[in-house]
Amino acid sequence: MFQRQLDELRENYLYRTLNILDYLPGSSTHVKLHDKEYILYCSNDYLGLSHHPRIISVVRDVVDEYGLGSGASRLISGSTSWHKRLEEKIASFKRKEEALIFSSGYLANLGIITALTDKDSLLIVDKLDHASVIDACKLSEATLRVFPHKNMSKLETILSHSHKYNRTLIVTDSVFSMDGDFAPLGELVKLKEKFGAMLMIDEAHAMGVIGRRGSGLAEALGLEERIDIIMGTLSKATGSLGGYCAASPDIINYLKNKSRPFIYTTSLPPSLCAASYEALLIIEGESGLRDRLWENTNFLKKNIREIGFDTGESESPIVPIILGTSDKALKAAQYLFDSNIYIPAVRPPTVPKGKARLRLTVSAVHTDDDLKYLLSILKKMHEEI
Ligand SMILES: *Cc1c(COP(=O)(O)O)cnc(C)c1O
Repeated sequence: MFQRQLDELRENYLYRTLNILDYLPGSSTHVKLHDKEYILYCSNDYLGLSHHPRIISVVRDVVDEYGLGSGASRLISGSTSWHKRLEEKIASFKRKEEALIFSSGYLANLGIITALTDKDSLLIVDKLDHASVIDACKLSEATLRVFPHKNMSKLETILSHSHKYNRTLIVTDSVFSMDGDFAPLGELVKLKEKFGAMLMIDEAHAMGVIGRRGSGLAEALGLEERIDIIMGTLSKATGSLGGYCAASPDIINYLKNKSRPFIYTTSLPPSLCAASYEALLIIEGESGLRDRLWENTNFLKKNIREIGFDTGESESPIVPIILGTSDKALKAAQYLFDSNIYIPAVRPPTVPKGKARLRLTVSAVHTDDDLKYLLSILKKMHEEI
């Protein structure tokens, strides 16, 4: 029934399939696929915390005591003391009064944006916001306006018409997920204050990575108190699973009462809440991991640029290697794959047409040998394709 559409995807180099892999024991960067070993350069596990021995040991203890699934949604019997402990930890980590966890970052965006806006609201987003923000906008009843990527004068023009609405919510990624560049948070805060709007930021790729304490871009710029809603995920640098919202008690209580993606799904397993709690202690306490991540990032980025690749505007451990057509991105991914390096091609609609790429992500636990090997292959690839 869908054959024609699938054929069309294949013809346009947009057909997608799953690669099933297994991790080498204890490693978050080395995997096995079809009995061959690969170095992983596409995971969002920036600090290697998905395999951290201290976190795994805590998870084992909590599974022994609490079992596996939580058994129900948060408002029924799915709130344990681990959920509460994690929420208190996130709130203090984000310098907000309260926090609420969701079952994923995707659900957090759906849950926050749909609950805080209604048909009389204005919702304003950056063109390159994450797909979960875009999907939340489709579900929201608010009037939607999109401004070109980081274009603050366009945003100001949209805001100048916002007095007609009961509420205005601006949503932006703090680190953009496909280009690795930063949102202009200082300017966003000024504009939202000038027009009395609410500002929500998505720190999915910033937590654990940016800021002295590793809390994110809002921390690095000292803007936590001037941003109304800070959301993010527990599934990237935090190494487990889940999403969160940190905000004022009013907003959090409203979400508990009104947010359908919070209310109508089974809560996270207690063991994963404990994993994230322990991960946050490590993120705060072991800044050496973050230093190593940035050393690896700066070393790779400098050398990849020197080879002659276009890495766009990246300011983070997300390093795009922009190649243009989907065909070219697929060829490059295959070239690396044949050399035991795993970075799938990212194609439209995930990125704009003509901007197909390899989206390389760096980890604190990539070794010097891992990095040197990658660079030697990229160099050959640049000459050969
Ligand atoms: C990954 C990501 C999400 C979704 O988080 P999950 O926990 O994976 O559902 C949301 N926003 C951004 C910017 C992301 O990169």
